[in-house]
This record gives sequence, structure tokens and C-alpha cells, in this order.
Amino acid sequence: MSEDRRWAELADEIDRQIEPQKRQIDDIAFSNQIKVLEAFRHHRVSDVHLRGSTGYGYHDAGRETLESVYARVFRAEAALVRPQIISGTHALALAFFAVLRPGDTLIYATGEPYDTLRPVIGPPAGEGGKGSLAEWGVRYDQVERTPEDGIDLESLRRRLNRGRVRAVALQRSGGYSGHRALTIDELEEAIRLVRECRPEAVVVVDNCYGEFTELREPVEAGADLVAGSLIKNPGGGLAPTGGYVAGKRSLVELVACRLTAPGIGSEAGPTGDVLRLFFQGLYLAPHAVAQAVKSAVFGAALFERLGLPVQPRWDQRRTDLVQRFDLGSPEAVLAFCRAIQEASPVDAHVVPEPWTMPGYGDPVVMAAGTFIQGASLELSADAPIRPPYRVFAQGGLTYEHGRFAYLSAARALDAAGLLPRR
Ligand SMILES: *Cc1c(COP(=O)(O)O)cnc(C)c1O
Repeated sequence: MSEDRRWAELADEIDRQIEPQKRQIDDIAFSNQIKVLEAFRHHRVSDVHLRGSTGYGYHDAGRETLESVYARVFRAEAALVRPQIISGTHALALAFFAVLRPGDTLIYATGEPYDTLRPVIGPPAGEGGKGSLAEWGVRYDQVERTPEDGIDLESLRRRLNRGRVRAVALQRSGGYSGHRALTIDELEEAIRLVRECRPEAVVVVDNCYGEFTELREPVEAGADLVAGSLIKNPGGGLAPTGGYVAGKRSLVELVACRLTAPGIGSEAGPTGDVLRLFFQGLYLAPHAVAQAVKSAVFGAALFERLGLPVQPRWDQRRTDLVQRFDLGSPEAVLAFCRAIQEASPVDAHVVPEPWTMPGYGDPVVMAAGTFIQGASLELSADAPIRPPYRVFAQGGLTYEHGRFAYLSAARALDAAGLLPRR
């Protein structure tokens, strides 16, 4: 049998294997699509709302409607959805600075936060003077995960009973740490505990990579604020930039006052020409997220078959887009990322090299042949160059592309003799 034929047959076999997972993912996409359409209809999204505003952006009916639609989709009282929020990190930083005051304590209940939140919380030694929460007198503490990698509810309870805890943060996705993603049910249990011990504390959920992967979103589990990036899930692959915060109206207004200025809040903010893309991206998001999750399941099943550890396993329940592949060597990491890049629609000819990124500790190699810079609902793969040489891959606007790219990566490793002996 020819090599091409052998790989094509393996891919077909994997497709058959993951059929039940694909059907479940489609069911979730179906419900979320209805949810989004219902919100569009409820708020009477019209042609005039797709145009933007300039200058101060006062009385921007399109922006106001978009924010109402987001609020309804996320079951929140209000939402702030802006091109001026440049990323997920920015959205979360706005939420923290909006809520916390000098002397307050912020607790991360899900272990070490995502790398880019570290400088927001407090400067690494010798890197002060940039206006972190620590410099404003906000104290910080985190509750580590249990040995089973869940939320440590007992330690959280003990920690909540000490000091002036003003905000509790929960991160849904695992990020670059070794931690797995946490389901909405798991977040709900922790939020219930916070309500019991500290009814006055504000619960902020980092929702990056999580939107539309389940039937419910964090506000439905009791969160006060959720934040995320529009170049991840809710932008549907079309939003060229942007971030959102949704939750309690009074808190969302505080966040708006942080983004603009006290006295201006959410009343101003020009939308330029992004509104049509924000609306259309949100409309496409449930489907695009399903494509990305199915791509990840295919990649997991394929690499598991080839004898490499993956997380989550192909048949595990998912609550984010991220798929980890433990490849065991820097050579394998580079070969994998280069194959993903080569299978991209944009910059397929570019060869990714490891480099030092703002906000990240180790050199990182990134494969991102995306239409929108840094977009990670589009297929992308990145890996900090450190043991266990783990690639974090996510996205894929079409399942066909994701399937092809993961197959290419497997073939590249095989050709370089980097797969375990079979
Ligand atoms: C991506 C991500 C962030 C940061 O978002 P950016 O848009 O890259 O700034 C924060 N938390 C998690 C869990 C993420 O996945």
C-alpha cells in the first residue's frame, strides 16, 4: 500500500472512531446557534445596526444592540463589547482594576493564572513600575489544584475565611499550565462555595476559549463577570479585534468607566467599521467553535493512535478548544508546528522559529497562518520550548482544514522518525 493511501485509511478510521463525539459537538452547536439567533431576533438586529460610528461614538445604536445581544446570549444583565478592548488579557485586566481597590484581595481559585495575567496581578521581582494590581495595593493569593487537577474546594473555603477578599477569579481553560479545563458544572460548585462564605465577593470568570463549547456559560453558573477575546470563540473567525465583558449591570458599568473614563463609561466608544463583523462573527461562532472542537478531537484520536500522550483524551468531555500533544523533544515540537504552518491558508511558506514573547516566560514557537493576527479560533499551535515539549493547539474554522493539518503534522513527525516505534 502507498504511504498516501495508508494515511488516508488511517484518517478514515479515526473519523469513524470519533463519530459519537462529533454528533455530541453538533448537538451543542445546534442549541447554541438557536440561542444566538433568538438573541438577534429579540433585539431586532437590523441593517442599520451593521454600520459603525466615528469620533466619540455617542448614540451608536449598532453598538448598543450588539451589547444587548451579547448580554442575552451570555444570560447577563449587560455586556461591553468593544474594538477598544484589544484582547482577553485586556478585558480581564479591566475587570480586575474596575472591581478591586487598595487593601482588597484577589484570589485565583483555579491555580496559576494564564501567563499574561501574571504581570497584571503583580510584577515579577525587579520589574515594577508598570501599574500592576500589586502596585495599587491589591493583595493576591491563589488556591492550587487538587492532586486530581480539580478545584480544591476545602482550601478555597479556608482561604475565603481570611482577609478582605473582594474578588475571586476562576479560569475555565487550562492555558499554558499543565492544568485541564474546568467544566461549567465544576465552576458552579466553586461559585456556590464563594457565595456561601463571601456573599459580597465578585466572581470573575476568564472565559477565554470556553464560549459555546457547552450549553451554558459562566453567568448561568452564578458568575458576576465573564471576560474573553473576540479573536477567540465569540468572534466566529470574523472579528478582526476586540474583547468583551458581560455580567451584572453595575459591574459592567464599572468596567466601562475603566475602559473609557469615569463619567463617560459605556456611553461612548466609536465602532468604526467592525460592527458587521462582530455581529456576523457572533452569528457564526457556535458553528465555528464546533468545527474547532471536532478538529481537536480528531487530532487527539490520531496522535493517541500513534502512541503519543494527549490531553484531553479523544473521548473526554470538552469545555474549551485547547488540545495538548506531548511530543517529547524540541525537534518534534518544531516539526509539528512547521507542518501546521505549512497547512495554513496564509503564510504557509513561513517557517516558525522560537522567540521571546511579551508576557510569556520561555521562548515560544508559534504556528499561525491566520487571516487575523494572533487569532486562535483559526487553527494555530504554540509551544513554550521547555519539557515535556508540549504543543498547545487550538482552532480550525473548518473541520476539513483541521483534519488535514493534524494529519500533515503526524506525517511530518513520521517522516523525521519522531514517532514512537509502532
Ligand atoms: C488566551 C487566553 C487569555 C489571554 O487572552 P489574549 O487575548 O491572548 O490576551 C487569558 N486566559 C486564557 C485562559 C486564555 O486562553
